[in-house]
Amino acid sequence: MFRDLSGTMSDPFLLRSVATHIALAFEGKFSAVLAVDARGFILGTMVSQISSCRLVLARKLGKLPGAVHRATYEFEYGATALEVQRDALSAEQSVLVVDDVLATGGTLAAAGALVSRAGAKLSGFATALELTELGGRRTLAPYPVFSLLTT
Ligand code: IMP
Repeated sequence: MFRDLSGTMSDPFLLRSVATHIALAFEGKFSAVLAVDARGFILGTMVSQISSCRLVLARKLGKLPGAVHRATYEFEYGATALEVQRDALSAEQSVLVVDDVLATGGTLAAAGALVSRAGAKLSGFATALELTELGGRRTLAPYPVFSLLTT
């Protein structure tokens, strides 16, 4: 079943509230947000604004110009990949990965792999909603995972 978060994303107070909870959960533990294509961009931007942290985009395969780090993962209809520009993350940064939904965990695990490939520190993962029955959290161990809502 597809959980539709459009209502939360389109309500300025709800969106800000979700982002504030995420920013507070990792307060002082991150210096950059890696926002995941595409709905993670909305929430991740808000988290970076609230925490005055740098925003970096993890985009789907082939969208970014220049040299990139790439991490492939299995998704509904086969293998796909996320990419980040090579000069967007540095070893000094502590990175919080933000997306809208945690399902099987494949997407966030790939985003986390991009952080490691860039030599940056992975602070953890945050989402608005976690579909607990899919067990995605296990694939993200040992890093902290914060989901505001769970089903
Ligand atoms: P995962 O890789 O299986 O954890 O899937 C998470 C990714 O798929 C996220 O980028 C979500 O945007 C998307 N996704 C998976 N299930 C849902 C859902 O029920 N509602 C909204 N997005 C979902």
